[in-house]
Amino acid sequence: MVLLKEVYVDPSLEANPIVQRIRQGLNHLPWHSRADLDRVIQELLSFHADPCGAGKHILLIRPFQGRLVKNCPGTMNHICCNYKIINVVTNCPMDCSYCILQSYLNNPCVTFYPEFAEVFREIEEIIEKHPHRIFRFGTGELGDSLILDGIVGFADEAIPFFAAKKNAILELKTKSAEVDHLLFLNHRGRTVVSWSLNPLRIIEEEEHLAAPLGERLQAARLCADAGYPVGFHFDPLIYYPGWEDDYRTVVDLLFEHIEPRQVMWVSLGGLRYPPFLKQVAQERFPGSRIFSGELIPGEDGKLRYLKPIRVEMYQRMVSWLRAYDGGLFIYLCMERADVWQEVFGSTPGNTEGLNRRFEECVVRFMKGVQ
Ligand code: SF4
Repeated sequence: MVLLKEVYVDPSLEANPIVQRIRQGLNHLPWHSRADLDRVIQELLSFHADPCGAGKHILLIRPFQGRLVKNCPGTMNHICCNYKIINVVTNCPMDCSYCILQSYLNNPCVTFYPEFAEVFREIEEIIEKHPHRIFRFGTGELGDSLILDGIVGFADEAIPFFAAKKNAILELKTKSAEVDHLLFLNHRGRTVVSWSLNPLRIIEEEEHLAAPLGERLQAARLCADAGYPVGFHFDPLIYYPGWEDDYRTVVDLLFEHIEPRQVMWVSLGGLRYPPFLKQVAQERFPGSRIFSGELIPGEDGKLRYLKPIRVEMYQRMVSWLRAYDGGLFIYLCMERADVWQEVFGSTPGNTEGLNRRFEECVVRFMKGVQ
């Protein structure tokens, strides 16, 4: 459920056809044309008791400064997956207690950059330079890929664009169930639709305004039936008494909805956050229990569960997932090589090694869809 309350647009974009279409779709909301959008942001930051919460109700539409497609920054001394991030929307109208964006962005408003043609030009430039490599692009790093997509319409253009590419795929990552507009697009298996999953209890207590688990899995089923490869992210994994039963139930539910051969990848990532997130989150979500466990700073400064806890969680998850399909492609998000070694008995070694594993996985899927 999107609870936008007003829209601010930079006047230079008023005539943009994408913006005009959005205006028609949001004609029930106040629409302000303002050249000083930074001032709107500053006023929110200065005068609102909860700028982060208030910003989730405001949509800004503005030109993007700089490149719209970037490398995922990864994290120091951890194996990263060499992902390319597309900045079309930053921030998110959902409100997870652990969301890193609360402490990350200096603009708390949901912000949309309607320069699709420039996004596609930058992607072409990247993939044409290395025609023998396979690139993964996604919109779900600085926001949710689908919660606003019915309004902004990026997937309508991006999915057919990627369908025509030989060496690139798109991932749309979400905690929503907003997939109806995807179901009849020409995707040729070049778009992976993926969901972040957590047990019911964590969704209810920590993932405010996100779709319930059943709705996410039903949406995944619809996409899989429409031929899309699907993906799942158990990230963040939360450690609490009884986590084993709850996560195992989610794995079982997942495979009640989806056949393992339809799953392109599954990621696992323990809860981690920069130290200053804890204070922001505890002020905004005093009822949250996930910040009270024992977490210690890693080499990148982020707080994580102790290594034995992370390894235990990953090993158990891998065994539950692989019981359904021993060949399932599972990777760890932002973990060190020694953790990979303990969980899988092998390590990709570095980011390049993990990237090669992704390329092999994508090629296998692409062979099935020509
Ligand atoms: S869905 Fe993702 S981007 Fe949105 S609030 Fe939750 S963690 Fe943040």
